[in-house]
Amino acid sequence: MAIATVNPATGETLKTFDALNAGEIEERLVRSARAFSEYRLTDFAQRAGLMHRAADLLEADQEGVARTITTEMGKTLGSARAEVAKCVKAMRWYAEHAEKLLADEHPEQDDVKDSGAERALVRYRPLGTVLAVMPWNFPLWQVVRFAAPALMAGNTGLLKHASNVPQTALYVEELFRRAGFPEGVFQTLLVGSGAVADLLRDERIAAATLTGSEPAGRSVASIAGDEIKKTVLELGGSDPFLVLPSADLDKAVRTAVTARVQNAGQSCIAAKRFIVHTDVFEQFSSGFVERMASLKLGDPMDEETDVGPLSSSKGRSDLEELVDDATRRGATALCGGGRPQHLPNGYFYEPTVLTGITESMRIHREETFGPVASLYRVADLDEAVALANDTPFGLSSNAWTRDPAEQEELTRDLAAGAIYFNGMTASHPGLPFGGTKRSGYGRELAGHGIREFCNATTVWFG
Ligand code: NAP
Repeated sequence: MAIATVNPATGETLKTFDALNAGEIEERLVRSARAFSEYRLTDFAQRAGLMHRAADLLEADQEGVARTITTEMGKTLGSARAEVAKCVKAMRWYAEHAEKLLADEHPEQDDVKDSGAERALVRYRPLGTVLAVMPWNFPLWQVVRFAAPALMAGNTGLLKHASNVPQTALYVEELFRRAGFPEGVFQTLLVGSGAVADLLRDERIAAATLTGSEPAGRSVASIAGDEIKKTVLELGGSDPFLVLPSADLDKAVRTAVTARVQNAGQSCIAAKRFIVHTDVFEQFSSGFVERMASLKLGDPMDEETDVGPLSSSKGRSDLEELVDDATRRGATALCGGGRPQHLPNGYFYEPTVLTGITESMRIHREETFGPVASLYRVADLDEAVALANDTPFGLSSNAWTRDPAEQEELTRDLAAGAIYFNGMTASHPGLPFGGTKRSGYGRELAGHGIREFCNATTVWFG
């Protein structure tokens, strides 16, 4: 895949970049290792000062960065601005909380006395250079979600970003440099995915984090496994959105639409499968379809637009194949189901609701990375849970019920890394984020995230 900015709203190639050659990659690896040897000695106050400065700079750059994001991957300008604001918050959050999250742990004397220790502690020390392989869908947030905790922990970072967001990738490197982080602490590598294997095998890379598709995750995890290197994988999702009779239906319908079409449906934690109790099915379905059909599709730079284009021609054709497979096997599109006639250029796809989905259809088990909702009717809670869990993925889940007994049962039974009741899944710096099953492993954000790339060192005093 060429490293280039292609405007998804028009299909026009705006800028292309040469991938780094072997010598240029080597220079960056040397710089990163050198930077780590010094940077790991900085204290939390120094790192927090730098991170706050980066957050301030990013806040000041908000409009320009948001426009770059929209130009490169097609999300609406409003949502790109919100993404920038979210990154600023997360940087400040880690600047303020890292020291407490990574404070030495002091086990109770009673618990360690059998070891003969006079005292013992656990210290969280940085691992070294962490390679981050990131996707284009939240091109700034995915990077900051890794970089803010990793740098606050004293690690150095190397970013291999998706090939369609090179300008955003270069911006982040520049941001940390302008904020005063020492040279080499955070660098962007403009390389294709073919360069990742050698990087993972390089002894100067201590660990890796990948957010992306299952095939990419499998490749990175197997090479890193062979090298005995720690990885965190944030992969795909096909999150269920359960609607049960006690739900506030108006709110559930409105939230369902947002949860499905956010980022033109290209979000790992977007709700994708809408599983609705038969008692409220007609009411939910009619409201949901009506709202999905009335969304305004168009130029993502236009403030009036609800849904922009998909990020690439390939992304759209993958989605079309899933929908075509389903309709060919008997599913019905209650709205949408194709390309909008009035937008012949760019990679647009209509907000779509499919019903009549059966197990034989690919869409039943695969991730729909676009504004296409799968709508299911179920007879009771047990059937809802069985269907919700009938997926290879386990990222997040949403359930609409005000019944405490149902909430308890769902908390016990939904096989996912998160359960959001009466709301939609959204990541927050203070809450751990990650999946089970084929959605990956490890956690980002909160204390869990910052500790993933630390060496929890036992220190024993005799
Ligand atoms: P992708 O193809 O896997 O790309 C993601 C990143 O991995 C890119 O930098 C890509 O580089 C690189 N890559 C691709 N194949 C690779 C390989 N074999 N070895 C090493 N690196 C490789 O993912 P995508 O389709 O663009 O992104 C969407 C996917 O990401 C969806 O499945 C979505 O659910 C998932 N996602 C998950 C989360 C989460 O937090 N769980 C968040 C967002 C997205 P190139 O661009 O150069 O190919």
